[in-house]
Amino acid sequence: MPPTLPSHARVVVIGGGIAGCSVAYHLTKLGWRDVLLLERRDISCGTTWHAAGLVGQLRATHNLTRLAKYGAELYERLEGETGQATGFRRPGSVSVARTAERMHELKRLASMARCFGVDVEVITPGEAGRRWPLMRTDDLVGALWLPRDGRTNPIDTTLALARGARQGGATILENTAVTGIRVVDGRVAGVTTAAGDVACEVVVNCAGMWARELGLMAGVTVPLHPSEHFYIVTEPMAGVTSDLPVLRDTDGYIYVREEVGGLLMGGFEPVAKPWGMAGIPTDFAFSLLPEDWEHFGVLMEQAVVRIPTLETAPVRRHVNGPESFTPDGRYLLGEAPECRGFFVAAGFNSIGIASGAGAGKAVAEWIVGGEPSMDLWDVDIRRVAPFQGNPRYLRERTTEMVGAAYAVHWPFLQPVTARGVRRSVLYERLAARGACFGVTLGWERANWFATPGMPPAYRYSYGRQNWFDCAAAEHRAVREAVGLFDQSSFCKLRLEGPEALDVLQRLCAGDVDVPPGRIVYTQLLNERGGIEADLTVTRLAADVFVLVTATAAATHDADWIRRHLGGARAVLTDVTSSEAVLGVMGPRSRAVLARLTDADLSSDAFPFLASRQIWLASAPVRAARITYVGELGWELYVPTEFAAVVYDALVAVGEDLGLRHAGYHAMDSLRIEKAYRSWGHDLGSEDTPLEAGLGFAVRLDKKTPFLGRDALLAQREAPLRRRLVVFVVDDPEPLLYHDEPVWRDGTLVGRLTSGAYGHTIGRAVGLGYVTHPDGVSDEFVATGRWQIEIACERVPARAQLAAPYDPKSLRVRA
Ligand SMILES: Cc1cc2nc3c(=O)[nH]c(=O)nc-3n(C[C@H](O)[C@H](O)[C@H](O)COP(=O)(O)OP(=O)(O)OC[C@H]3O[C@@H](n4cnc5c(N)ncnc54)[C@H](O)[C@@H]3O)c2cc1C
Repeated sequence: MPPTLPSHARVVVIGGGIAGCSVAYHLTKLGWRDVLLLERRDISCGTTWHAAGLVGQLRATHNLTRLAKYGAELYERLEGETGQATGFRRPGSVSVARTAERMHELKRLASMARCFGVDVEVITPGEAGRRWPLMRTDDLVGALWLPRDGRTNPIDTTLALARGARQGGATILENTAVTGIRVVDGRVAGVTTAAGDVACEVVVNCAGMWARELGLMAGVTVPLHPSEHFYIVTEPMAGVTSDLPVLRDTDGYIYVREEVGGLLMGGFEPVAKPWGMAGIPTDFAFSLLPEDWEHFGVLMEQAVVRIPTLETAPVRRHVNGPESFTPDGRYLLGEAPECRGFFVAAGFNSIGIASGAGAGKAVAEWIVGGEPSMDLWDVDIRRVAPFQGNPRYLRERTTEMVGAAYAVHWPFLQPVTARGVRRSVLYERLAARGACFGVTLGWERANWFATPGMPPAYRYSYGRQNWFDCAAAEHRAVREAVGLFDQSSFCKLRLEGPEALDVLQRLCAGDVDVPPGRIVYTQLLNERGGIEADLTVTRLAADVFVLVTATAAATHDADWIRRHLGGARAVLTDVTSSEAVLGVMGPRSRAVLARLTDADLSSDAFPFLASRQIWLASAPVRAARITYVGELGWELYVPTEFAAVVYDALVAVGEDLGLRHAGYHAMDSLRIEKAYRSWGHDLGSEDTPLEAGLGFAVRLDKKTPFLGRDALLAQREAPLRRRLVVFVVDDPEPLLYHDEPVWRDGTLVGRLTSGAYGHTIGRAVGLGYVTHPDGVSDEFVATGRWQIEIACERVPARAQLAAPYDPKSLRVRA
């Protein structure tokens, strides 16, 4: 008897592509049997069926690589487990570099891969040619060899996952489209289909390129857009053997692998063709889009450079299929902030086969465990904002995001499409001063200021980029005189109500029961003691607080607080747009502000961590004595309509005191010298404040036991096996970014989480976690021979726990 639609299921998975089948499979592995997968047509009929099947393992971050590695391991054993062949094998892969800069990127990847336990070898063009005899190598600089990279048959692999899910107890129904989502009190209650309704506790949106529309049914933003995506398959060619590794020539935008004795060649062209603007046809199943040889030409041109015999090879198939891309090129995973019980696993940016297994496992663990089992911030759906659901924005960005997959991932790389979406009210004024803007969650933010005569545009490199000296001058102005930052994009959350204090005391590791006018730097922890948010809490009145957090953390942090309100009489509102924020930072900041206000700014009257409402120029301003750059300074919270008048006044009176506009690159350099941590980089859900060196901000003896406290108490009982350490490179030349391996006495002990050039100390500074099974003691850090690996070369560094700049914070309290 074929299964029929039940009236209830614990979980409904929507979509029978690789993502949906993987989620269902992994839910059953975790013991959930009441799982229903609904597919509108047939298993794998959307995008999955025509994928090229490359299963690369190296990803941008540790945990995403862990998931990709897991995927390859699962595909390897899935046939034995389910009886369904997958076609998976591991021919390895060769990635070649045409330029020195690309080779540098590959070597950085190789260094990173070692931290992640992925086998990798840097090889010469000659060695690459021996592994790929049809390839031209005389124009290459070098290559990487990843012997464990694989390929698989996407349809068979998806069928194997589906079979595994059924064997585990899941029900899979094809030809059953979900037409609506029932939401009650902000929580998923069920789904609607033509065959009837199904009540459920959890929905998982694995609807591929349909996922945006499906999200809208529950008021959830799923920012993705389909794009046409191409490959060709040739007739059998001489010299092509079945054990040929996968070849990636990213400078030529292409990948190539063997297919039935011929070659399959596809790629990621720099300017893509978004598709589906008029909606996706309802009958789209096992369908392809029309051939477009003209558009494909840019790939073909490059392919024949690399493999000259391709020029005359007869083409058997031209595949043009739609795939979903997201605004930042990373997939979307996890429980949506807008609707409890509504999970998403979609937007795979053409790595859905490689990532499907791991993503399914991660989502299943999230559903069953109630929270992610590892730090998945890079792909967490809470990194997006509602404005990103706009199809116009998505369409424009998608033209760029396809090519972005294979473009060099330059440090500080900014997108060029769909820009100017969110601007501070001071945007035009900053632009007139030479600001070069970067983008964070849609906000245009001044990253650096060009000096007169210099175009405010990036020239990317792995070495010192064109703005290095500009940021250095801004940095020095902040240390020696005064810098002016536009920090308006910082997220401001207002929590108010009779039980606002109770909520915060439950959530914050610090004690926020302070008099109004005080600021507390604190972390919000999960049950394991991991850091879910790193922010400041300012008490404005007995029952009113303002929380200030990073721009990128806006959706995430608001969601974390809302989901822990627990029915308390307190309301959280994002008030970011209502106030501009100007940071006036540096030893002369007091002198600048004193020219515009009668308020007493002395340390006695206005100490560090105080917040006061003052008159400044002709505006009402909340001045907060706080800093992220390690100097005397104030953040001025100005109602948006008064921002221009305050800005103009500051610039006018600051000039002779050496006031200089400063951007986020200078801020990063200043904060890292002071070893100030950054959430999403140095802090995350797997790092506790004790490991992160933030024990000073924790009040274990606070009257209200806070979330995560027990985990910290337990962790305190034993030596810390993992600790955040600050590194200063001996040689003033090298630069640090992130993910560089850390070595101690020739043993790999950790990796950097962030890095920047410290312009005051004249060396690159990195922060990173170091692990040792017997504990990372102060002595362990102070002794030993430390090295940082940069692009496969190790450079000596000094390790320390204290900040390299002003470790006693004397300047901050001046
Ligand atoms: C040309 C090309 C080459 C590629 N090559 C590779 C590669 O080499 N390696 C790699 O890792 N990735 C590759 N990809 C990407 C990969 O194919 C996708 O990332 C992956 O298949 C996405 O899987 P999915 O499950 O998210 O989406 P889909 O496979 O599209 O699955 C979504 C399913 O949801 C169903 N659905 C939609 N709406 C509803 C509804 N309302 N009710 C019920 N069901 C619904 C659809 O019918 C569909 O079956 C390639 C993609 C293309 C286009």
